Amino acid sequence: MKLLIVEDEKALSDNIRAYLSRGDVVCETAFNFEEAQDKLLSFDYDIVLLDIMLPDGNGLNLLRLLKRLQPETGVLIISAKNALDDKVQGLELGADDYLTKPFHLPELNARLNAIFRRRKFQGHKILEFHEIKINTDTHDVFVGEASLVLTVKEYELLLFFVTNKNRVLTKQAIAEHLWGDNVDLLDSFDFVYQHIKNLRKKISAEGGADYIKTIYGLGYKFSSDQ
Ligand code: CA
Repeated sequence: MKLLIVEDEKALSDNIRAYLSRGDVVCETAFNFEEAQDKLLSFDYDIVLLDIMLPDGNGLNLLRLLKRLQPETGVLIISAKNALDDKVQGLELGADDYLTKPFHLPELNARLNAIFRRRKFQGHKILEFHEIKINTDTHDVFVGEASLVLTVKEYELLLFFVTNKNRVLTKQAIAEHLWGDNVDLLDSFDFVYQHIKNLRKKISAEGGADYIKTIYGLGYKFSSDQ
């Protein structure tokens, strides 16, 4: 996946780039409106990560330009809290999704993957991790040949793990992914643990390996490393 990060906060841009580059994402960056415009006029991207408030212009105008130049490119808007107008306008102009700052990087990664799948594979995409197979179109999950019956949250949890494999996911990031920004964090940590326990149980009941590693004091990591 080739991504253009349009974000004037250098530290945030660097963090996003470092995080996503560890996966299979090729990241380019633009730190202002003009730079972003130049890149969009010259290069193609799968997805543009778009900040709205730029020092020399409004990101929504870049979105307009992009929809004219590269209508097949996905757009994920990242913007400040309470910028509801930006959100509504951005989605009306054809952005695929919207994420409010601050956000967790695994959440960003999951949203980008969802956009990429939708645009590149029309939603028909089998994700595989060793013996686990996830049909993201039908939501069917298999361990080897055996079909798993998962709850909606267990399915979302497994998908979140597989799309962020080999990365540490904090309980908070998992909770916010599964329950959104308004989650009561203290309560949800127990819920996270409970869902992980159930998911583990269902996978191992069909002979699957336990890929959900507990990283003490940090969270969890979905990995085949020992
Ligand atoms: Ca900004």
